[in-house]
Amino acid sequence: MFEESRVALVTGAARGIGAATARRLAVDGFTVAVLDLDEAACADTVAQITRDGGRALAVGADVADETQVGAAVDRVAAELGPPTVLVNNAGVLRDNLLFKMTGADWDTVLGVHLKGAFLVTRAVQKHMVDQRYGRIVNLSSTSALGNRGQANYAAAKAGMQGFTKTLAIELGPFGITANAVAPGFIATDMTAATAARLGVDFEQLQKQAAAETPVRRVGRPEDVAHTIAFLVSEGASFVSGQVIYVAGGPRD
Ligand code: NAP
Repeated sequence: MFEESRVALVTGAARGIGAATARRLAVDGFTVAVLDLDEAACADTVAQITRDGGRALAVGADVADETQVGAAVDRVAAELGPPTVLVNNAGVLRDNLLFKMTGADWDTVLGVHLKGAFLVTRAVQKHMVDQRYGRIVNLSSTSALGNRGQANYAAAKAGMQGFTKTLAIELGPFGITANAVAPGFIATDMTAATAARLGVDFEQLQKQAAAETPVRRVGRPEDVAHTIAFLVSEGASFVSGQVIYVAGGPRD
């Protein structure tokens, strides 16, 4: 346990994997900045953390907007202290086959996942460098290996892996590690929306995904949160630049 609680910033933490990660890090003793597009949407996550005895702050910002990101990180540092743990989790889907994918579909997905992670990491790293300590975890995906209908998302998630490895190289000398987690099928609003788009019942889609997964179940947000909790722990200081697939089985 740290003498003074470290501050963790989790983006896209109003729901899904981000919310589970924020809750888990709070249980592990971190003070958590719960960032999402709409500050009011963070209220549930913050309330759950405080009810369980933790400390959290709701922060509204679009991770793809440089000005909003700068203001959000300044606010976190001023109200909670310097953020030394960052989880770049905010994400959106704009799935379509390549021939139907619009430029806007491409820009939105690359903008939130990749540029968003870049902007938030750049704003937060100065606090980590000052503290000579940091833990960065970026959300990649098994889709980084290629997935039909997701040219934009696959490119962004593969990009996250190269971004992560470069952060590990540049920031390592300052006591900062950077790793990526690459989940497989996790039951969240995002995968529920995919089922709706495909016109498939969500339960049915989960059964299908479970049957194709070696451990014979789909993932839960807590599975990803558990892996992130390890990567941001103090003891994980020699694990950096890695991509950890959290997918119930091996991936290439
Ligand atoms: P989710 O339930 O859709 O949650 C994503 C959160 O990110 C939402 O609260 C969303 O806010 C927020 N967000 C979107 N755009 C944002 C922006 N510009 N700025 C700030 N916040 C923004 O998704 P999830 O399933 O938990 O996924 C979380 C991460 O894991 C994503 O990066 C995703 O690509 C990755 N992942 C998920 C799976 C899976 O199977 N679920 C698998 C592999 C990787 P709004 O609600 O306002 O849109």
